[in-house]
Amino acid sequence: MKKTRIAPLSLRPASADLGESNEKLSDRKLTELGTRRAFTGGALILTRSPESSATLTLGRRELLRAGLGGAAGLVAGLAGDGPRAFASQEVVGNGKRTPHHRIIDVHNHPRWVGYNGARIIEDMNAAGIERTWLLSWEIPEREIDPSYYATLNPTGVGIPFRDVIDVAERYPDRFIPGTTMDPRDPHACQRLKAAVDIHRVRVFGEFKLRMRYDDPDAIRLFHYCGELGLPVIFHLDVTFPRMGVPSDWQWWYGGGLENMEAPLRLCPQTQFLGHAPGFWREISADADHESEAYPAGKPVVGRGRLLDYLGKYPNLNCDLSAGSGLTALTRNLDFTRKFLIDYQDRMFFGRDDFNNKLYDLLVSLNLPPAVLAKILAGNALRLVPVKDPQA
Ligand SMILES: [Zn+2]
Repeated sequence: MKKTRIAPLSLRPASADLGESNEKLSDRKLTELGTRRAFTGGALILTRSPESSATLTLGRRELLRAGLGGAAGLVAGLAGDGPRAFASQEVVGNGKRTPHHRIIDVHNHPRWVGYNGARIIEDMNAAGIERTWLLSWEIPEREIDPSYYATLNPTGVGIPFRDVIDVAERYPDRFIPGTTMDPRDPHACQRLKAAVDIHRVRVFGEFKLRMRYDDPDAIRLFHYCGELGLPVIFHLDVTFPRMGVPSDWQWWYGGGLENMEAPLRLCPQTQFLGHAPGFWREISADADHESEAYPAGKPVVGRGRLLDYLGKYPNLNCDLSAGSGLTALTRNLDFTRKFLIDYQDRMFFGRDDFNNKLYDLLVSLNLPPAVLAKILAGNALRLVPVKDPQA
């Protein structure tokens, strides 16, 4: 994709004195200020993080006067075909764009892939993400696929709830804590309730265990999540050959989508968000014969099991995060645009990493604004309401 450069903001001419190029200055300054950008009605509002008071409002004229190189393109983005034009421009430096929507990332983790709490906040600021559902991955060590050791925090096993608490407590206005309990623990429900009461947990996720999710103890815990009002984010990885004898030791989680039918039926109060390769492969009707975990670029054939279940179970939703979500959504863009519109109340923006690929794809699809707004934040705010920081 052709890169368009935007001259960075120079907040105070004086700052140029520090001998830093405007570019470096504005990025450092922005990060320092922990700015959140929001576009409302053509005005650009930079709000500083709570500990600092000043608020700067720059209308279109001020932007131009401030001599932003790419101002014209930016304003065009504001005035014209907003999201798409805007998305085609790029803030210099970390290359992240600043959208003008409310964005909630429903799927991310603390202290992994090189990101600690402060770096996640920096990244969220640059990407214009208002809040993140910060999830643990609580799992017995013997069930962890060893390839994860290179990216996980070596001070614990998996992604401990402890790390979620530490990071969420530091930035309570930016993170919504999520965790899980092991259904095989007889005290799982009590411990979950305590996590809600003590640590304000509002999401049950990321649930990723080497057990079939229609296990009676798992169903009991999912049912309790519904009583507590916690949406459940579940991760599926299947074995190969599908529906056959696994060819070797494989790191599977959950079984297959078919093992979610009982939980969906028996826990109608619980909202489930499906995620990961074992979930997204079911977008196509040939999934049982597909030998690849990530069937990138393959056509979407017929009506997959996922669409059947979305039709049957109103409490099934889709977590669009990670490579698996992106792989599924880029198989056939016409199919994807219709899929996102048809199920617009069931699609949730998430990243499970620190990049803008999904955002760029969603904006490039030129979805109806109301649909895009639901996917980026509206649906997440319906399940886990939070105050609008701009209100
Ligand atoms: Zn995850």
